[in-house]
Amino acid sequence: MNRGLLLVLSGPSGAGKGTVCREYTEKHKDVWNSVSATTRQPRAGEVNGESYFFLSREEFEKRIAEDDFLEYAEVYGNYYGTPRSEVERKLSEGIDVILEIDIQGALNVQENTTEGIFVFILPPTMSELRKRIVGRGSETPESLITRFRAAFDELNYVSKYNYAIINKTVEESYEKLRSIVVAEKCRVTRISKELVSLKEENYNAFND
Ligand code: 5GP
Repeated sequence: MNRGLLLVLSGPSGAGKGTVCREYTEKHKDVWNSVSATTRQPRAGEVNGESYFFLSREEFEKRIAEDDFLEYAEVYGNYYGTPRSEVERKLSEGIDVILEIDIQGALNVQENTTEGIFVFILPPTMSELRKRIVGRGSETPESLITRFRAAFDELNYVSKYNYAIINKTVEESYEKLRSIVVAEKCRVTRISKELVSLKEENYNAFND
C-alpha cells in the first residue's frame, strides 16, 4: 500500500481555504481533514473535536513540551497546532491527509518532514478578500485590520509552495486541487512499488 499524500493548504484569512477543503473532503470520503488544536475561543457553531480541539494555553504548552504537534504556530495571539500521531497513523494507512494551516506552520512542516504537497490559496482580488472577511461577521474591527494586513505580507510566501490556486469559484478551485492530487499520485517516485510488481510479472510471463 502506498503512503497517503500529505496535502498542506495555506493562504490569507478569507481566501477561501476552508471552503475549498470542505468541497474536497465532501467529494472524497477517503481523504482525512486533520482537526487542529487551538487556544482561540470557539466561534458560534464551532464544535469541540470537529472544528478544532479547544485547549487552554497551559494544556497547549504541555502538549508542545511533550512533542505532540507535527507543527504549531502562534497566529493572531493564539496557538494553533496539528496533532502529530493521528496524521502519521492516517498517512501510514494510505489515507490522504489535508492540513489547513497558516504559513509559519507550513514552513515548519517543510522543516520537520520530507513529505508534503504545499498548495497556496489566493483570493481573486484584495477587495474580494476584504469583503469575505467582513462577510463572515466573526471579527472585531481590530482583528479585521490585523487579518487584512497579514494577508498582504503573506502574499510574499507563495514562492515557498509547490502550487497556487486563485480561488475565483469553489468549483474551479476544487477541480484544480483534484488535478494536483491526481498528478502527484502519478509521480514516478510514488508508483515504484507498482513498477517493481510489473517487472516481476513481466519476468514471470516470459518464464512461464
Ligand atoms: P481561524 O482562527 O480563522 O480558524 O484560523 C486562523 C489561522 O490559523 C488560519 O490561517 C488557519 O489556517 C490557521 N490554522 C488552523 N489550524 C492550524 C494549525 O494546526 N496549525 C497552524 N500553523 N495554523 C493553523
